[in-house]
Amino acid sequence: MNRKNFLSLSTGMVGAGLLAGVPKPLMAMTDFTGSSNKNNAGNITLKNVLLETGFESDEFEITATKTSLFVVEIRDGKIFSIQPNSNLKDAIDAKGYLMLPAMKDMHIHLDKTFYGGPWKARSKKQKSVVDMIKLEEKIIPQLLPHSTERAEKIIELLQSHGTDFARSHCNIEPTSKLDSLKNLQQAILNKKNSFGVEIVAFPQHGLLYSRSEGLMKEAAQMDIDFIGGLDPTTIDQNMTKSMDLTIRLALDYKKGIDIHLHESGESGLKTIEYLTELVMENPTLKGKTFVSHAFALGRLEQPKLDQVCANLAEAGIGIISTVPIGKSVMPIPTLYKHKVKVMTGTDSVIDHWSTFGSGNMLGKANLLAQLYGWSDELALSRCLRIATDDILPLDDKGEQLWPKAGDAANFNLFKASCSAEAVARVPQVRARYYNGVEQKILIS
Ligand SMILES: [Zn+2]
Repeated sequence: MNRKNFLSLSTGMVGAGLLAGVPKPLMAMTDFTGSSNKNNAGNITLKNVLLETGFESDEFEITATKTSLFVVEIRDGKIFSIQPNSNLKDAIDAKGYLMLPAMKDMHIHLDKTFYGGPWKARSKKQKSVVDMIKLEEKIIPQLLPHSTERAEKIIELLQSHGTDFARSHCNIEPTSKLDSLKNLQQAILNKKNSFGVEIVAFPQHGLLYSRSEGLMKEAAQMDIDFIGGLDPTTIDQNMTKSMDLTIRLALDYKKGIDIHLHESGESGLKTIEYLTELVMENPTLKGKTFVSHAFALGRLEQPKLDQVCANLAEAGIGIISTVPIGKSVMPIPTLYKHKVKVMTGTDSVIDHWSTFGSGNMLGKANLLAQLYGWSDELALSRCLRIATDDILPLDDKGEQLWPKAGDAANFNLFKASCSAEAVARVPQVRARYYNGVEQKILIS
């Protein structure tokens, strides 16, 4: 390893109380699972950890990713130091596996999944969202008795693919009232030592259409994080009234916003533009407002799309896309060009809406690469960001960004030589750490 790489990797060490160049002796650990303190935060040392240190290039392009082996010391669940590799006798052997940041699944429905229950394909009977609402009125009561257990199972599926955090939408509607939320919160509590969840209170049957305002107010006081929404024109039949109420709920209860917007035509665009105006008028919502799906963006001509994306970026509104293939391909390259926050999730892993979810965020990064033809070393490596909430080991120039001292020790070990290979090949997770504690990989 050259000196520049070492210095760049050890920048955080001074902040962590070490003198540059004079590393403290590393802690000797004997237990492979590491030790953990009362808060379930690990104190461990790993050796033979493969980390990315830069790019190699020729006159035309980036041709390869440079890596080296390191010793990574973790204290109180955080990265404490990163040092040149050495054969410490009692350190955990990472076997040369590549360390990558934990994955973040930013759009999923943990509360009403079939996962963990019997196989059931999606029915062809329901053609519209209104049909789906009618179906949910029938099946949600059947799902509720199992929903805590199945939420835990699906969390285990996500964990098995290296995900440590999810943003889960949770039904708030007159059928389940607040029971979907209570059951989900029980599952989250049961998994709190190994998985984090933020909740979107989601009026799945229409905020106005199902008269869910009262329930949403109750839910907003039950430790949720975002106010959800659903197609304010086609379902609620009154876009401005529905969006005004959504904004009011978010402001009154100091929450973010994350709405489902499937409307792909003019009404979808009008909603995005109206929401953008409202957020500009209420700057506390900047950086806390998201539109999930936003299919309307996929139908715009380039000049209009550029203008809408620039406005979204200015308003700090993020787009959460499941990276659809087929007829509703999204303009993700343009969103990135305008520096709009883009995230993805595995959505309905298997339920009455969809059967194709894998729960694998690295798989989403792979899909992104394939769909947009990003197959060179640099472009592949950049695709990882959609799976990790924008955390990348290297910046576009090859400067090291992650891990740094002080970062949460939430990461995965993969048998891969670099991020680009991991995105292209989607290897299995070999080991997973949450707050520096190794987690068992359970697959149901
Ligand atoms: Zn959804």
